[in-house]
Amino acid sequence: MTSAESVITEFAGSATLAEPLSVPADMALCGYCDLVQHLPLLNAGEKACCQRCGHHLDAKHEQPVLRPVLYAGAALFMLLLANLFPFVSMYAAGNSNEMNFFDTSSVLFKQHHQWLAILIWLFIQAIPATCMAAVIYLKLGLIYPLPALTWVARLLYMLKPWSMVDIFLMGLIISFVKLVADADISLGLSFWAFCLFCLLHLRAFQVIDRRELWSKIAPYPELPFALRPGRTGLRQQVKLCQVCTALVPLSQNQCSRCNTKVRLRQPASIQNAIALLLAATLLYIPANLLPIMRTVSFGETVDSTIISGLLLMWRDGAYPVAIIILIASVIVPVAKVVIMFWLCYLTRLPIYRRQRYSTQVYKLVDWVGRWSMVDVLVVAIMAALVRFDLIMSVYPGIGALVFAAVVILTMLAAVSFDPRLLWDPLTEQKEVHFDATT
Ligand SMILES: [Zn+2]
Ligand SMILES: [Zn+2]
Repeated sequence: MTSAESVITEFAGSATLAEPLSVPADMALCGYCDLVQHLPLLNAGEKACCQRCGHHLDAKHEQPVLRPVLYAGAALFMLLLANLFPFVSMYAAGNSNEMNFFDTSSVLFKQHHQWLAILIWLFIQAIPATCMAAVIYLKLGLIYPLPALTWVARLLYMLKPWSMVDIFLMGLIISFVKLVADADISLGLSFWAFCLFCLLHLRAFQVIDRRELWSKIAPYPELPFALRPGRTGLRQQVKLCQVCTALVPLSQNQCSRCNTKVRLRQPASIQNAIALLLAATLLYIPANLLPIMRTVSFGETVDSTIISGLLLMWRDGAYPVAIIILIASVIVPVAKVVIMFWLCYLTRLPIYRRQRYSTQVYKLVDWVGRWSMVDVLVVAIMAALVRFDLIMSVYPGIGALVFAAVVILTMLAAVSFDPRLLWDPLTEQKEVHFDATT
């Protein structure tokens, strides 16, 4: 896709401020900074970003029906292949073991780690498959009269952040690097099918745009009053439907397009985020003290925590893997919690002027946080692959489940945080400035 063209905010002093626009299909309300903006007509391959905070607002894709259906259909076919054939084989000390893709969940289930097994099955199989099926259903629904399109579109965007196939692929690479010194690894047909599934799955999401998709599912709801670009939604008594991007009058509780309850700001956003962050901080202590993995080798049992496993890899000379685990399991979760607390604090400051910077930081921690799950997935892969009874076997420790809970809590904290609260104090001060130009 070509880079951002166009847009956007007609700030104070612009000629368009004098002309109120009443066609909401041409207007966008930024979900990150709450500014009403006029969208230009986009050509295929172009996208529009918010000039105030840089958030992606709209995009137009080439062949918007055919390409997503082909990518998602091919991804589902690859996922089927990934489950049908041997995934990885391992040879060590005269023994061999073959792992199937489904083993990453089923082995954990048999070892009485049911919650971990269910989580991993959801993250790498059920949710990605449901998302791909939803993409196909929605796009075909634009051609044929299919029921429940709004429900499926809501489900798609609710599940999207929890699809972790890319992180699983990183977990596989880390596991192979850890094992390659002690064993021979042979990659099966399903491994390559899974790699293709990852690529096609990511590509299917890249070629759909939320605003464009919803505009095809149902027409943009009309507003009973005109809007001015360059002013906030708060000022103009209008709020954003976070699900379908429609603009909803403040007096209306429900979005008339997707039937979702729409709020001006997320209720108790800061309180919920802080509560989730505190819970994550408390759980992070046992997550580091409890063993994340148990290795049985020639009758000897060694429990390893996140830190001890990391030090062991460093001593063994596996520096790149040690650095990746250090970043994903130590630096990212701690930095995410600290930054999220800092962002919560910023919303309470009456005078603060670096909203664009803090919004970018928020988007970064929101995106990077899910990668912390890589260590949990490495444990699941190792447990499924290294099964040679007393010669050498790997079992997950309770620390893996606790650490997964930490990552999920920090992800939920990021979802609970409403970045528009960073901009609201500035908006209140700037209203005078906006008004002065009209
Ligand atoms: Zn914005
Ligand atoms: Zn809606």
